[in-house]
Order: sequence, then C-alpha cells, then structure tokens
Amino acid sequence: MSGNETGKDVRELLARVPAVERVLSSVGAQRLIAEYGRTQVVDAIRAAADALRRELLAHASFDTSFNFEAKLVEDAARALAARSRPRLRAVFNLTGTVLHTNLGRALLPDDAVRAVIEALTRPMNLEFDLATGSRGDRDDLIDDLICELTGAEAATVVNNNAAAVLLTLSALASKKEVVVSRGELVEIGGAFRIPDIMSRAGAKLREIGTTNRTHPKDYDEAINPRTALLMKVHCSNYAIEGFTKSVSVDEVARLAHARRLPMAVDLGSGTLVDLAQFGLPTEPTVRETVDAGADLVTFSGDKLLGGPQAGLIVGRAELIRKIKKHPLKRALRVGKLTLAALEPVLRLYRAPELLRERLTTLRLLTRPAADMQAQAGRVQTVLQHALGDAYSVTAEPMMSQIGSGALPVDQLPSVGVVIRNAAGKRGGRALMKLEAALRALPRPVIGRMADDALRLDLRCLETADEAAFLAQCAELRL
Ligand SMILES: *Cc1c(COP(=O)(O)O)cnc(C)c1O
Repeated sequence: MSGNETGKDVRELLARVPAVERVLSSVGAQRLIAEYGRTQVVDAIRAAADALRRELLAHASFDTSFNFEAKLVEDAARALAARSRPRLRAVFNLTGTVLHTNLGRALLPDDAVRAVIEALTRPMNLEFDLATGSRGDRDDLIDDLICELTGAEAATVVNNNAAAVLLTLSALASKKEVVVSRGELVEIGGAFRIPDIMSRAGAKLREIGTTNRTHPKDYDEAINPRTALLMKVHCSNYAIEGFTKSVSVDEVARLAHARRLPMAVDLGSGTLVDLAQFGLPTEPTVRETVDAGADLVTFSGDKLLGGPQAGLIVGRAELIRKIKKHPLKRALRVGKLTLAALEPVLRLYRAPELLRERLTTLRLLTRPAADMQAQAGRVQTVLQHALGDAYSVTAEPMMSQIGSGALPVDQLPSVGVVIRNAAGKRGGRALMKLEAALRALPRPVIGRMADDALRLDLRCLETADEAAFLAQCAELRL
C-alpha cells in the first residue's frame, strides 16, 4: 500500500467518525444524558471522538468494521461511570488495627447513623432553645451528658483532640509557660507534635525531667511567675520501659494547686469506662483523671470512645468558660453532623451492660475468638479456591491492635488468614500483585504484609459483612 493510499484511507476513516450532535441524538446517549446531564455527556462524547481520531491516525489499518457511533457512546459511558465513582469509598479493614486512622477510625453504631441522616435532611434546633424560643448554644445539647459521664463540672466540643489541645493552650497559656515532662513530648502521627502545638498556641514549652524519668521536684522547680499551666500528655503511641519514673496526675495536680495553677491532661484516647471489665487492657478513664484533680482533660471522639471525629474538653466551669470565649473556639467548633452522631454514642454509656453489644468499637475489640476461628475456616476455603495453586491460604492466630495510639504495647489475640506464595522463592512480587488485586476489588480489601506473607485479620469482618466479602473473592483478577 503506497503512502498516498494510506493517507486516503485514513481520511475516509476520519470522515466516518460521526459528529457529536449526531451521537447525542442516539438512544444510548439520551440515556446517558438522563443520568449525567447534557454538559458532561457532550464533553465525554467529544473526548471519545478525539481519542478515536487519534487512534485512527496512529493505526490506520486496524479493524474498523465496528459501529463508530456505538463505540463513542460506550466509551463515553465507561468514562462517565469511572468519573462518577466516589473517591471516598467503603473498604474492608483487615489490617488488624481496629481504630485505624487512615481508614476512618471508629465506626458509628446504628443510633448515631440514624441521627446523622436526620440531621442531614431536616432542620434542627442546633442553636435554638426550644424551651424559650431564643437563641441557644450548640454545646448545650450535650454538655450535661458529657458531665454526667465524666464527673466534670463543664464541657465543650471541638473538631478533634488536636483542636482541643490547641484551643486549651491558646485560651489559658498564650505568652506564658506550660510545664511538660520530656517523657511526654509526643508526636501523634505526622503533624501533631506537642512542642509544635504549644508554639502555635503562643505558649512557651517548659520541658522538665528527662526522657525516662521525671520527679515531682522537677515540676515544682520549673514553676515561676510566667507559668500558666502544668500539663500531662498521655503517651499514646509508645511506652517507656525499664528505669522509668513519671509523676501521676494526682501528684501533678497537687503541685499545681499548691501554687494556684491549673493542671491539664491530654488523655488522647480517653475511654469513658474501665476496659478491664471487658477483658481489655486498662486505660485511664476520663472520670478517674478528673477525680485525680485534673482541671481540664482533652480527648478524642473517634478513638476508644467510639464516636465521630471530635475533641472533647471537660473540666472546671470557669476554665471551660474561658475556653469557650476564645475566638479560636468559633473556628474549631463542630458541625451539626458531629453533634448528631456524638449524642447517641454518649447515651449508650448510660447502659454499660449493653455497651459491648451496641458500641461498634467495643464489639470489635471484644469479638469472641470462636467467631473469628469459624469465620477463618470459611474465608480460607473461598480464598484458596479463588487464588488457586499459586498461593497457600491458611487460617492462623494473629495479633490485632486497638490503634489510634490507645494501649500501644498491648495486643489482642485474633484470628485471620495468612496468604503465602506457594512457590516460596520470588514470593514477594506475587504477594504485592495479590495485595494490589485485593485493593482493586469493588470494595477494596486492606490487609497487612509481614514476613513474606499477606495477613488478613478477621477481627473487623463482622458477620453481616462476611457474605459480601466472600462473594467478591470470585472477582479477584491476578
Ligand atoms: C490521638 C491523640 C491526639 C490527637 O487527637 P485527634 O482527635 O486525632 O486530633 C492528641 N493527643 C494524644 C495524646 C492523642 O493520643
């Protein structure tokens, strides 16, 4: 075929690409317009036509026996569907970390979900006092409940615990000094570091003691006329072991009060109930911390508490009043969805006997081993079938973590499946491929890679979700 003939062929082919207007009048395009609106469909068909022209120019001799118009509609439909798929999607968290920050931390119980839907679709008395008909304060909706559950005098809620700490320091210690033990200058995942928050709040950090040991006299000697606050920070994500000494909340509070200073605790996870009663490792509760003499306690809403992202500040009424008056409070306040979700979660704590069943986070943390064991058998069978001989799938005991910094050294015995490359050697590549394939499923599956094996911890695969998980295993493409 001479160059001229090829040029002629290409021109003929290009001429066969239908005009966008003509494609738009087809039944298929009309169906797309009904779903996506005309603007998006016009753009998608134009893009599909451009792509087709480029393809024809590049490969003049490829098979062109298909219907151009139908192809443009199909290509546009595919592009529109891909573009419309939500970017924020549900996944299966089989990492073994129950409160996984990157996977959204606590899952809300049904009552909270219903309340959020109501708040999304109906006007609410967010800042409206129904008794008097006058303007209200959004904190009034739940501060009694928080006080009831923590024994504190007053409470307020902001965007997250980082905001709670920033606001507390800004309101109480701006241009003044805050005394913190060197053993408690923590970094919580990336951007939250106590020294940085301190300087952002305009407070001067007064470090005392050493990394492993801090004594009461270290606090006492650091106090001077510029001191605004003594602060303790819960070592959420690490533990100092060995030759260590730290000063307890009640001791630091006593030292602060003797010098007429307030004492604050950043509790991090801040559970509202003693977890030991559920067979879990012990964490200090908010009530214990308040009882020990802390004047202010800050903690997260979406860690062990099991609610939405929020930062709770509880403590003495006059200090909470000061915090609420600070301009940053307005910038850091929570929205109605957060309040709608938080209230029913807090209410669950009034019935501690039922908490294990109703509070999703606690239900996952206390999931019976026998449940997970039985489930591991079912998952193993289905996965082994889906993966074929190239991989070996076994049900094995493993260790889960609470996550989000709660109880960093304590692990929970769990059960899951472990997938290894049957060939043994060069298993790494195949496992990476498998891991990517699991992430590419309609509801992506996130596991944990360790020791040349992919581990899928089943603690967070509740029975209600199991069928959906097993069904999509058949769609695995390796
Ligand atoms: C998690 C944590 C924070 C940050 O809380 P967010 O709710 O994630 O903002 C701050 N301090 C401590 C000790 C924590 O554990």
